[in-house]
Amino acid sequence: MNSNQFAGYCSLHIEHWVSEISQGKAQIWGCGGCETPATPPNLGTSTQSLKEPEHLNMNIGVLALQGDFAEHIVILKRIGVETREVRLPRHLDELDGLIIPGGESTTIGKLAIDFNIMEPLRTFGREKAIWGTCAGAIFLSKDARREQPLLELMDISVERNAFGRQVDSFEIEIDIPALATISENQAPYHAIFIRAPLIESVFADAEVLAALPDGRIVAARQGHWLATAFHPELTPDDRFHRYFIGMAAKK
Ligand code: GLN
Repeated sequence: MNSNQFAGYCSLHIEHWVSEISQGKAQIWGCGGCETPATPPNLGTSTQSLKEPEHLNMNIGVLALQGDFAEHIVILKRIGVETREVRLPRHLDELDGLIIPGGESTTIGKLAIDFNIMEPLRTFGREKAIWGTCAGAIFLSKDARREQPLLELMDISVERNAFGRQVDSFEIEIDIPALATISENQAPYHAIFIRAPLIESVFADAEVLAALPDGRIVAARQGHWLATAFHPELTPDDRFHRYFIGMAAKK
């Protein structure tokens, strides 16, 4: 056991888990909420470092208006790329890509309006790579089937809270063939869904990257835009971050 390992929590205590990870406390396996022993999932932690020339000197911002932006920043720093919290339009200057974290998409949208960063984000996204995780994927989409501020960049439609309430949050291993392009690690991907959306449909040239065993879509890519319904920033497996950095490097 080492300090990079996170505690496992049963789905009832997932909120507790997330807040402990935020505080950097979670270090052991087992439910920290009710002490039920938890089997460590196969996280497929990457051992490759990101030393390809195209990845050097990358600067990836994380939208830091609300949500779990701190967890993304920890992973980006560990990989060795530069990173910055983005709240104001000028924080987008010189970035190669931007991650929009999980949280609450209506709150992120309202704060983006208050901080006058809606249009700058759209302009940035027309040129540069953006990855939305969970609430971030909703915010990136063209259609969330209800009135709320959206960037309306990516040709996906999403259904918010498609799996139910917070207590219906779950974790599952899924195969994501696209990750083989950046890592020799072929382990299934351990995906964490917390009051997650579903990607109902992809259109135009958006493609499906990952689906649940029943075929429901949980990750998609359209050129330099990436959307995941789950939370790669909450596991030690950095393959998704490395995949996104590769996308940003190609822009
Ligand atoms: N349920 C949230 C929303 O609709 C997303 C949850 C999350 O990001 N984990 O915005």
